[in-house]
This record gives sequence, structure tokens and C-alpha cells, in this order.
Amino acid sequence: MYIAVDVGGTQLRAALYPEEALEPLVKKSISTHAESEKPENRLLELIGDIWPAKGQVKKIAIGVAGLVNPKNGEVIFAPNIDGWLNLNLGNLVEKKFNTQTILGNDANLAALGEWKYGAGVGHHDLIYLTISTGIGGGIIVDGRLLVGARGIAGEVGHITVIPDGPMCGCGKRGHLEAVSSGTAIANYVTEEIEKGRKSFVTQTEHKITARMVSEAAANGDELALEAFEIAGRFLGRAIADLLHLFEPSIVVLGGGVTKAGDVLMVPVRKALAEGVFSPEYLNGFELGMAKLGDQVGLIGALALART
Ligand SMILES: [Zn+2]
Repeated sequence: MYIAVDVGGTQLRAALYPEEALEPLVKKSISTHAESEKPENRLLELIGDIWPAKGQVKKIAIGVAGLVNPKNGEVIFAPNIDGWLNLNLGNLVEKKFNTQTILGNDANLAALGEWKYGAGVGHHDLIYLTISTGIGGGIIVDGRLLVGARGIAGEVGHITVIPDGPMCGCGKRGHLEAVSSGTAIANYVTEEIEKGRKSFVTQTEHKITARMVSEAAANGDELALEAFEIAGRFLGRAIADLLHLFEPSIVVLGGGVTKAGDVLMVPVRKALAEGVFSPEYLNGFELGMAKLGDQVGLIGALALART
């Protein structure tokens, strides 16, 4: 059996899996933060709660939203989790349960999950991008997850696409995440409305979200369509650059923003076709949509545990 854990800023999820199937034997989730209890202690309790009464757990794999070093089990920095700075979570869990424990960045593991069990089955070279509030990703090269010297490679959301452009969630300017994420799409529409542009999106008093922009775009709203066109164009350009560097046979796109469909994907495909310096890069290339949905965090960790 294997235990897979998905650590997000709001929820800790854990599941116990059998040797081979993708259906968990037990699954449980709790909030990441609680008064008077550290997130790492909540995580230890959660693993204890799903621990099997009999049988052996071969490995525990944990996906964390943040910078992690899979080589030594350290969480270098997890921006959405209180106190997780240079915390050796791997050691903590391994000691408590006396079971081999491995860590990975959540988006890197999502790439592993989609490769082994989702949209990327059968490919050896794959890049996965998740487009949601931020942009994360993972790169599979010749049948192996690229982790880099310290384990923090594959941050495709932080490619510079507009030098000195909009502020990114990481504190630098002009990254892909600052231009093509759900947050960026919502920010663009908010700023244009403040400048006096008209949009269906103005008809609500709530803070504008990417989902609201997506709904307005589906109804033909000009500003909303423009926001997706810009996001899609830069995303397509970035994918062209990734093709030049890694020449994957598939790029898999996941995350809530991709649910917008054609309003995003038409400009992505156009910019990708225009962005590659030789059509050879698109020969046999596939641009696919993620298949694992909400389960990608746990299944990604499971894929790491089974390697
Ligand atoms: Zn950034």
C-alpha cells in the first residue's frame, strides 16, 4: 500500500492506495490551518487517521504547493502555509511513521500523475501546465521528471513574457503567471473597467473573478474576450518556447482557467503555430487537456510513491 498526501494552502488531503489501482482504500481531508495547531502536526495526525490497521505501507509521498527539495525532503518555502520555511517535512514524517517518505512540488507531481495515469499515457516527453489562480507545471524529459540541481526546476509559470510587465505572485514582473493566470485575467478586466471600459462583468458588486470573466466571454462580452485573447496569446508563445527547449510530444493543460474552452484555446493554438520557428516542432505534437481533474494532487503523489 501507499499513502499519498496533497498539501494545499486551504486543505490537506490524504489517501491510502492499494498496490495498483487508482481507487483509494481510504481518503480524508482536513483544513490546513487551525488555531493552536501547526500545519505539520495536522498533517501527521491526518496520516495517522488513514493508516491501515494491518498490512504494510511501502512509501509515503507528499505534494506541497511551494518550493521543495525532493532530494532531502525539505520544504524550502511554501507561501500559503504558515511557518513552512526550511522545514524538513520528509524527515518529520519518515521518523514518525518509520516509512520512506518523499516530497515533490504539487505541480511537478501533477505532471507525473497526468503522464502515468491521465492525458499523457504513452508519451516519454511531456510538459504539464496548470492554469488557475497561479501557473505551475512540470517537465518530463525522456521518461523522467526534471527536478534540477536543488529540485526546484520546472517553474513554467515564471518565464518572463513581458519584461517589466504586470506584477507576478512571486514578486517579479512580467512572468507568464502575471499575464495568463486566472488572477491576471481578472486583474486585466478590473483595471480596464476602472479606466472606463464597459463590460457585462461590471453588473455585479463582487470582486471580479476569472470565472465571471469566463461567463461574460461565453456571452460575447468584448472586454472579457480580449482578456482571454491576451492570456491565450502569451500562453501560446510560452508553449512555443517550451517546444524549442524540450520538444515534448504533448503539452497537457489543466487548471480551472482551461474550462473557458475556445476563448482561451483558439488564441493559444494561433500563437503557438506562429511562435515556433519551424513547423517541425508541431509535427505529431499534441496539445491535450488534463484528465485527472480534482484528483490530480493525490494521484500525482501516488505516481511519485510508485516510482
Ligand atoms: Zn513569477
